[in-house]
Amino acid sequence: MATDKLSPVFKARALEDAQARARASRPLQTLFTPRGVAVVGASERPDSVGRAVLENLRRSGFTGTLHPVNPKRDTVLGLACAPSLRQIDGPVDLAVVAIPAPAVAEVIDQCGEKGIGSAIVLTAGFKETGPEGARREGELVERARRAGVAVLGPNCLGLINTDPAFSLNASFARAMPAAGTIAFMSQSGALCTSILDYARAQRIGFSKFISFGNKADIDEADLLRYLAEDPQTQVILMYLEDLDDGLRFIHLAREVTGASGSGKPILAIKTGRTAEGASAAASHTGSLAGTDEVYDAIMAQAGVLRVETVQELFELAMAFGSQPMPAGNRVAIVTNAGGPGIMATDACVRQGLRLAEFTPATRQIMAAALPASASTHNPVDLIGDARHNRYRVALDAVLADEGTDAAIVILTPQTMTDIEEIARLVVAAGQGTRKPVIASFMGGVDVAAGIDILRSSGIPHYPFPENAARVLSAMVRYRSWVSRPRTRERIFEVDRGRAHKVLDQALRAGRDRLIEPEAHEVLAAYGLPVLPSGLARQRSEVAEICARLSFPVVLKIASPDILHKTEVGGVVVDVPDLAAAQATYDRLMADVARQRPQADLWGVFIQEMAPRGRELILGAVRDPKFGPLVMFGLGGIYTEALGDVVFRLAPFPSLSARHMLEEIRGRRILEGFRGEPPVDHEALQECLERLAQLVVEFPVIKELDMNPVIAYPKGAAAVDARIVMDLQKE
Ligand code: ADP
Ligand code: MG
Repeated sequence: MATDKLSPVFKARALEDAQARARASRPLQTLFTPRGVAVVGASERPDSVGRAVLENLRRSGFTGTLHPVNPKRDTVLGLACAPSLRQIDGPVDLAVVAIPAPAVAEVIDQCGEKGIGSAIVLTAGFKETGPEGARREGELVERARRAGVAVLGPNCLGLINTDPAFSLNASFARAMPAAGTIAFMSQSGALCTSILDYARAQRIGFSKFISFGNKADIDEADLLRYLAEDPQTQVILMYLEDLDDGLRFIHLAREVTGASGSGKPILAIKTGRTAEGASAAASHTGSLAGTDEVYDAIMAQAGVLRVETVQELFELAMAFGSQPMPAGNRVAIVTNAGGPGIMATDACVRQGLRLAEFTPATRQIMAAALPASASTHNPVDLIGDARHNRYRVALDAVLADEGTDAAIVILTPQTMTDIEEIARLVVAAGQGTRKPVIASFMGGVDVAAGIDILRSSGIPHYPFPENAARVLSAMVRYRSWVSRPRTRERIFEVDRGRAHKVLDQALRAGRDRLIEPEAHEVLAAYGLPVLPSGLARQRSEVAEICARLSFPVVLKIASPDILHKTEVGGVVVDVPDLAAAQATYDRLMADVARQRPQADLWGVFIQEMAPRGRELILGAVRDPKFGPLVMFGLGGIYTEALGDVVFRLAPFPSLSARHMLEEIRGRRILEGFRGEPPVDHEALQECLERLAQLVVEFPVIKELDMNPVIAYPKGAAAVDARIVMDLQKE
């Protein structure tokens, strides 16, 4: 906001307007854009939080009024001090609370009485300390809701709004960051101070900076909603430790990220990435569904880009916060060094980007101005002695070319390289185009001044071309997410009663596991592709069943006590005729009875033998916190060893099922492979959707495996099925 060129009167008016606009519609306006701020627990004691906040508020140039509150003092740091919130004259929208935990709830009550809309509770000593703290936090929330006060924290670092109309630093961080387009919110307060320091060194500015601590009242969803509307914010960064409501987060985040045109990218670090030993699971799906996989699914469905490190987070944020999104994946590389140009090319290809192909006209423009030894093909090599004029010609030409979606500018410092001039023209080129421009001035000391020019003018810079390629690739992915076709979840016509009957029968018998024929029946009721089969409860039934089936068949032991049949020698495939089937029946019953004398054997399940195909796994598991997750991946006996699976929270739109097929590492196995045509993607996609419908409609299903599902160029067959129920749910 360019308020500094205005006369004082207009400046005040502009401030008022901005403040009024900001307060108008949003529930968190009092938190981010308060007219007055009270600091409860304001103090002059060195090293106290109460002093640090008050000093920060003053130093940041907060445009509203400040009110220290402390019953033991008349003034604090030269400001008139009120004994309590009640005694303050004038409007206060926000109370920053830095007093011992037991006294906080009372202050929240006072906020309510005084009509203070928001409070930031910096104080620790709540949920994070144990049961007593948790009780205290519960009471705090209850009182806040009753008093109509929105509470940030407790146990947080506070909040910063760099918007010059407010200039609010209500935190005890050491310094106010520069203004920028990046909003950052964090569940960890300690990380915040490091981030602020790091960002300062990297010349990264923020629009809003929020530490939300224990998120007792205001949580990430409230903040997302606010930031989505904040005109200062272009990209939202989150550091998360946990989420309470996965589906709610997905729905909200999809609105923020996915709205085409006005969407804002969300980048997130979710810590606790290593699976914390998935709970004792009876299925492959259950054992593969660690917490981390759940969060991967949530982030993917929400359109949130999940990153691993703080470094990566800011690498991406710099570009997302300053550059337009590329319309496609065709990159132009302009360099003064051959080797780095090749490195950049390789990195782009590895990241799924393509090298732009220039038109003859573009190449002619370059050829006319560049020395004969230069390359006008992509990567454009300006040769080591290039000065800024060569960069200008090349960069203007490639950015104007219709075949280019983005540009990477690489520089290595030779004696004659006029680094700062080049930096300035890269800035100008970036401002003159709607395509993203990213720079990599490779080196350290010599290039530092150039990098400074780039960064302070909003051109993202990375020390190596690989980083630049990774960032561009993330932008392309985000862009394709935003412009994806919108699909709804499909509801299939199914035989719900039949599935219910099978599940209910088992439950009535006090059984939480279905035997395979029962599981197949449930799947069949939901239109999943099972094979013709029958259960032989005694030898005499083998002939009857085989008469209905075509050979060869497969015989499997049927027992609710045996989940992994192969492990007890309970599966015999490729049984050619009736005589063999009868002999196999005898042998299976005897062998398994010997191996598992305790097991309740129901007989032998006889199934047509499916032809060879590609073995996949489809499964579902109910997460205690987030609900049903559907899994897809490479199946068969190596499923756990490969761990090549993806999850989605159900229900999900049709397109999500399609994405699941595309997201496994081994996706090429689904494509044409060794002369075989690709497998039937539509059939698999529909299986995933039908499976999702099944587990959404039957909360009693705790774990479900179809391993393997054998996929063919046309259709698929679920040859094995396993369903475990939750007896508590009935
Ligand atoms: P489990 O997983 O309990 O050991 P399965 O029913 O999955 O038992 O059978 C083990 C393996 O036998 C399967 O992974 C599959 O390769 C093969 N198999 C089982 N049933 C069939 C069938 N009907 N057609 C073809 N192959 C089958
Ligand atoms: Mg199996």
